[in-house]
Amino acid sequence: MSVSVQKAIVTLSGGYDSVAALLWSLEHYKTRALFIDYGQPYLEQEQQALWYVVDQPQIQQHPAWRGLDMIRVDLRPALEANSSWIPYRNLVIGAVAVNWAVGHAASVVVVGSKSKEWRPDDPVSYKDSTLPFFEGLEQLVEEATEPGRRGMAPRFEMPLVGWDKKRVLATIRDAGFDLRKMWNCYRTDGIWAPCGECAHCRETQHILDAFQAFESSPFILTQSTDDDATGIKE
Ligand SMILES: [Zn+2]
Repeated sequence: MSVSVQKAIVTLSGGYDSVAALLWSLEHYKTRALFIDYGQPYLEQEQQALWYVVDQPQIQQHPAWRGLDMIRVDLRPALEANSSWIPYRNLVIGAVAVNWAVGHAASVVVVGSKSKEWRPDDPVSYKDSTLPFFEGLEQLVEEATEPGRRGMAPRFEMPLVGWDKKRVLATIRDAGFDLRKMWNCYRTDGIWAPCGECAHCRETQHILDAFQAFESSPFILTQSTDDDATGIKE
């Protein structure tokens, strides 16, 4: 395995896409992960997933792994009621990651978004997760970069563009990770089990159903009640 001399920052949420992006980045760059607490309603679930991922030997012992930073940027005032959607979330995360990249001499920011374009009818498609969005942000970063004053404009890489969820899940599973310990649910009520109802849960269950090996898995994707909300927390 050859490790590039170039460094990358990968934005990591503990969700499947970001973990697949982390695995990709480790094979291409010295990689430092950045987690941002921006006020997401499922912050603790994401953090639990994150600790699980970065504590695994596949990460800890990888020669390209350079560690995890966790920072806080409070975006909660713009949080929609009963929703996890925050306007311009990835604009903020992308901008912070670019700053972080310069601070750690990284020339690349790796993001786990898969979308070539925005799909208005798709509930898990967001304009600020698309290839055109990150291309535009990269242009803006170049516009804001002053030559000679640490004047290195980091570029964005989206290695998962064109991947489907099945490929993402298979990649993570094949790398030896327990898919049940990651968090991709949009539920906002604080319960520690995937809701089984949101678009992410439905998509994930659909794929897990297709993985014969997961037919009997305890991956919990049924509606939880308050009495039965033990979820994935251990
Ligand atoms: Zn859900």
